[in-house]
Amino acid sequence: MNLQAKSILSSPSRMYWRITQILVGLVGLGIFIALIFFPEIGIHAFWNVLIPIAPALFVVAVGLWRNVCPLASTSLISRHLGFAKKKKLKVKQQGRLQLIAVILLLLIVPLRHTIFDTNGLATAIIIGILALIAIYVSYKYNWKSAWCSGLCPIHPVEKLYGRKSLFVLPNAHCKTCVKCVAPCPDSTPSIHPLYKKKKMLSNKIAGALIIGGFPGFIWGWFHVQDYFNNEGWKYLVSTYAYPFIAMTITLILFLVMKKVVAKKHEVILINLFAAAAVSVYYWYRLPALIGFGIIQGDGMLVDFSQSLPNWFPIILQTLTTLFFAWWIVFNKKEISNWVIRPPYKKQNKSIRNIINPTV
Ligand code: SF4
Repeated sequence: MNLQAKSILSSPSRMYWRITQILVGLVGLGIFIALIFFPEIGIHAFWNVLIPIAPALFVVAVGLWRNVCPLASTSLISRHLGFAKKKKLKVKQQGRLQLIAVILLLLIVPLRHTIFDTNGLATAIIIGILALIAIYVSYKYNWKSAWCSGLCPIHPVEKLYGRKSLFVLPNAHCKTCVKCVAPCPDSTPSIHPLYKKKKMLSNKIAGALIIGGFPGFIWGWFHVQDYFNNEGWKYLVSTYAYPFIAMTITLILFLVMKKVVAKKHEVILINLFAAAAVSVYYWYRLPALIGFGIIQGDGMLVDFSQSLPNWFPIILQTLTTLFFAWWIVFNKKEISNWVIRPPYKKQNKSIRNIINPTV
């Protein structure tokens, strides 16, 4: 269902969204400060609370995340305050940014084992660098085109997991739609990483890597340990080898299946791989959070290993896998936009006449 608002968001609604964005932004700032000054708390809050919640949120309510993500709100400050340059990105540039986003994701995530999972300052530095890039590209290019729908390394995962939203919310960032990006991931029903009106090589590579490669990448990632005190740099090759070798295997599997599956069933295949990726994530992540991880102590929030029975994690793993398989693959829920597209910005009559003098 393609939803578009008839009028711009009312002032009170906009105000509520701004307050929510500021509150979530303050939480983000608090975590950022904790990462620098209280690294143990910051690491738990960021890597063991916020990040484990994110994939499930993308699955059931990606539009909510798109409306309140602190990095998105920070990046769009220049646009909200009215001094952004609003340059239009070319379709080719959009495709390239999406490929760079996938590459960034695949390069940064293994470094969690090397340094980020155990070093608050290093995590704060990488977040700071990404925030500066986000602010700059969103200042230069129109609305969400360059960061939220382009370079953000989380965006490919949003597109993979955000297949069926529980509810559709108004767009809390764009007042009117200026078609800054096509297709707009927020406003296009059925969007997925291979969805593109104009097929380009960069888009095809990015889509195949994230859909086909991500389940294996996650599986391989969980089989590498966290390293402390800069020890991890010595094991950089194996840290990357596990996720990349497993990623290659599932990518080949996806490409072969894509060749044999009829075009009209391709979306089912994409959903299957999306469900596999998020299920593998929680299969390992939830037990690790409560002290039952396959690598003792890695990614642990609280240690319940002595107080809970050994079968408890198996129950969690079974329930989450069944849920994601049902929600993403079998659930017949109608697919609609992540958020409601705002009304299109009306073109100034004199500009319209310059563009098309016959009008
Ligand atoms: S709703 Fe329109 S202006 Fe906003 S991100 Fe999508 S295409 Fe761009």
